[in-house]
Amino acid sequence: MSKTFLAVGECMVEMAPTGQGTFAMGFAGDTLNTAWYARKSLPDGWTVGYLTAVGRDQVSEEMLDFLRSSDVDVSAVRKLDDRTVGLYMIQLKDGERSFAYWRSQSAARQLAADAGHLRTYLSNANLIYFSGITLAILPEKDRQVFFEALATARKAGAKTAFDPNLRPRLWESEDVMRKSVTQAAGLCDFVMPSFEDELAHFGDATAEVSADRYLSAGAGMVVVKNGPEEVICATAQEKHAFQPSPVQNIVDTTAAGDSYNAAFLAEYLSSGSIKASVDAGARLAGTVIQHRGALVDCFEPA
Ligand code: ADP
Repeated sequence: MSKTFLAVGECMVEMAPTGQGTFAMGFAGDTLNTAWYARKSLPDGWTVGYLTAVGRDQVSEEMLDFLRSSDVDVSAVRKLDDRTVGLYMIQLKDGERSFAYWRSQSAARQLAADAGHLRTYLSNANLIYFSGITLAILPEKDRQVFFEALATARKAGAKTAFDPNLRPRLWESEDVMRKSVTQAAGLCDFVMPSFEDELAHFGDATAEVSADRYLSAGAGMVVVKNGPEEVICATAQEKHAFQPSPVQNIVDTTAAGDSYNAAFLAEYLSSGSIKASVDAGARLAGTVIQHRGALVDCFEPA
C-alpha cells in the first residue's frame, strides 16, 4: 500500500506582473511549494496530498487542476459554497517587488473547521507537514482542533514536520504566534525553522539556541537553516553543523527553505541518514535559488 505525505496549508492565486498593467496568474504558497517538491523527491510508493479548503468557483477548480497536474492528490481538499481562494498581487516599482494580499476571508481559513474531516485525513497520513502560516490563518479554536488531530495521528504512528515560517502580520499578536509555534513544535518529529526568522521573533543569539529552544519544547529533531551559513541539525542525543556548498549565480531565493524541507524529509523517510538528508536539502535548495520562481522543474525524468 502506498504511503502518504500530507501537506496542510493555504495555496493562493498569484498575480505576477508581465508588463503594461497585465498580470499572469499562478498558484503559490509555502506548504504547496513543499508538497510540490516532495512529489518530485519521493519515490512512486508515496502519494503526496494537500489538505486545504477552496470554493466551488472557477478559480478554485483551476487551483485543483493545477495541483492534480502536479500529481498532488486533492481528495483531502474541503470545498465550501460561500468562499473562494485567497489572492496576492506582486507589483514592481523601481525594480523592487511589493505584495498586496486578499486573504482574510479565504476558504483555507476553514481548513480545520470540520474536525472529523481533519482527523480522518491526518490519521491516514504517514507524514504530516505544515507551517506557521497554516497555524496563523486558523481561528484560535480551530488551531486547537488541529493540534488535537495532530496528536491523535501521531499516536497512531504518523510522523509530523513543521516549518515555523514566522509571519507576525498574519497573527493576532506576536505573543500568540510564539506560544502557538512552541506548542506546535512540541507535537513534531521534525521542526525546520530559518534562523533569520527565529532571530527576529524569538531573539535567539545563534542557530544552536533556536535548536535547543525547540528541543526543550518537545521537538524530536530540529533542522535550523540559515541561508549560506551552516545548517544545525539536533536531537536530544546529538548535534551537528553542516556547511552548504557555496552557490554561484543566485537569481531568486524564493522557496529555498520550502524545497530544502521537502528534499530533507524525502531522503530521511527513506534512508534515515541525517547526513544524506542534509545533503539532499542543500542540493535541491542550491539549484532552486539559481532559477526564477518558487517551483523550479530541475528534476531528471525517471
Ligand atoms: P528560507 O527560504 O526559509 O529563508 P534559507 O534562506 O535559510 O531558507 O535557505 C534554505 C537553504 O537554502 C539553506 O540551508 C541552503 O542550503 C540554501 N541556501 C539559501 N541561500 C543560500 C546561499 N546564499 N548560498 C548557498 N545556499 C543557500
